[in-house]
Amino acid sequence: MKIGYLIDMDGVIYRENKLVPGAEEFVQALVATGTPFLFLTNNSAPTPEDLSVRLRHLGIQVPSSRHFYTSALNTADFLSETDPGCTVFVIGEGGLLAALAERKIASDAIRPSYVVVGEGTASMEKLAKAHECIERGARLLATNPDNWCPVSSQATRPGAGATAAFLEASTGRRAYYLGKPNGYMFHLARRRLADLALTELDQVVMIGDTMETDIRGAFEAGMHAFLVLSGSTQFDAVGDYVYQPTRILQTVGDLTEELRTGVSSDRLNSPAIGHPNSHGARSGIRHQTDIFAFHKPRPRPAMTK
Ligand SMILES: [Mg+2]
Repeated sequence: MKIGYLIDMDGVIYRENKLVPGAEEFVQALVATGTPFLFLTNNSAPTPEDLSVRLRHLGIQVPSSRHFYTSALNTADFLSETDPGCTVFVIGEGGLLAALAERKIASDAIRPSYVVVGEGTASMEKLAKAHECIERGARLLATNPDNWCPVSSQATRPGAGATAAFLEASTGRRAYYLGKPNGYMFHLARRRLADLALTELDQVVMIGDTMETDIRGAFEAGMHAFLVLSGSTQFDAVGDYVYQPTRILQTVGDLTEELRTGVSSDRLNSPAIGHPNSHGARSGIRHQTDIFAFHKPRPRPAMTK
């Protein structure tokens, strides 16, 4: 059976500019076994080349920048597929500008077809300009719905979702959000993965650390969804969600042996289940309506809308 992997980056491969333990060996095993893989990130600021360099500095060599798919590329693919010849006013960074330029989508600050919002610091002046464009008829598009993004275990920064929410409030218009968990992101990622593999795949597995984006999107796209506990989701919080991961792992390193031997364990053998460090006092899967959830501290607001 031909399996391909979609792999989130932040919280899965690295965190705070440090590699997650076992991530290097995992990527080496993917390359060595010829397993198709694609890094899938909602961060629209970097280009695939930027991400490749970032991984290289962390000690991971990826054969080509074709192994990266960002929400910026997804946005450019969406516009060129649904509205070729459209123009855009962009609040965003290099990765988004490059992706749109590559698809020959022109910038327009007078009467654009779309205002496109990505990661990056938006000045009040730019927001006011975007607001005017929307009032003149431009439609509002965001590269991803993340309201905040982690910069360290203690700190976050505002994400594209928060910037889009500002414009939604000021104009009364609703944004359309690309990136994970939008099915279009997973649909195109699956297509890219098949291109890399030179064949259709029997099974696609998404590996991610965020329930609202990685796990939800993969579930809705009919893919397997492996949650790793090396990032934003704590084991205790998993039961709060209606949708559940196919497997829960401590880190991607838990999959390295499986890749090398080709023998996969089933869900009950998930390394995180029964792990001495996991705080699963209750076994099994808790539903969102579980009354015990009310006694938990108020969770951080969702990462996405
Ligand atoms: Mg992540």
